[in-house]
Amino acid sequence: MKPTHPDTAAPADAAERRNIRPVICYPVETLPPADMDRYRALRAGLTPHSSILVPAREARCFHVPAGHVFRIRSVEGPQVGDLNLWNAHDLSERFYSGKTRALHGTHLSTGDRMWSSFPHLRPMATVIHDTLDWYGFDEYGGSVHDVIGTRCDPYTHNLLSHGGQYHHCCHSNLTRALSDETGLPLHVAEQHVHDVLNVFMCTGFTRDTGQYFMKASPVRPGDHLEFLAEIDLLGALSACPGGDCSAEHSSDAAACHPLLVEVLAPAPGALDSWTPPPANGYDRSHGR
Ligand SMILES: [Zn+2]
Repeated sequence: MKPTHPDTAAPADAAERRNIRPVICYPVETLPPADMDRYRALRAGLTPHSSILVPAREARCFHVPAGHVFRIRSVEGPQVGDLNLWNAHDLSERFYSGKTRALHGTHLSTGDRMWSSFPHLRPMATVIHDTLDWYGFDEYGGSVHDVIGTRCDPYTHNLLSHGGQYHHCCHSNLTRALSDETGLPLHVAEQHVHDVLNVFMCTGFTRDTGQYFMKASPVRPGDHLEFLAEIDLLGALSACPGGDCSAEHSSDAAACHPLLVEVLAPAPGALDSWTPPPANGYDRSHGR
């Protein structure tokens, strides 16, 4: 955080320097476009493929073939979810929260992509429907579906609580789920768990101190977020022990609810001539 009383006196031209207008770091107009007309039309012909109910304070894995849709749905009560994605055939290609944030902003909605890690850097999934898109940004600067948080984890909790041992943080939930799905030992699976998309979570940065905040999610049963899988995906979703994240996480105090993941198949022919995005075109010579 910035000091209330800086050690360094402001220079004479401080106001002039502060008044420089910002520019967008990454204008996204030149990115490979998502065919949103086609993706939206696809929604009308979807048929159930598989589904899994993620229990409260637990995580589960799911597979989504390329060109299929997955839908994360609130059931029973307000609940946020922490989402990890991997290439189903190569766990080293995984969701890259930081670059997704740099490209699409702090909170995702329809038309935004979930980008994969270097050296792959390609869309893994595209948001095609969001029943909370009406929320926008509230008066606190908060919004839903952030890529600014990381995931609640037992290490940070241990430090903040002076030695606490809590095992149902999203990090541990995702670790157990990935271990169960792949057969990898826990400590190996843990290395593949990464910063998440915080589905339904309402977050922002305080305007005065720039601190990460959360507030009760506006999600209600029936709300959902839908994605088109751009490549074959292995996903993992944790129903966060923070519940709607109105008060705290990393404890069993919050009211928690399950989340439903539905995988849906497109109608025959709906994606004719569509192909998954190619691997990134950078030659990886790094100038040598
Ligand atoms: Zn969590």
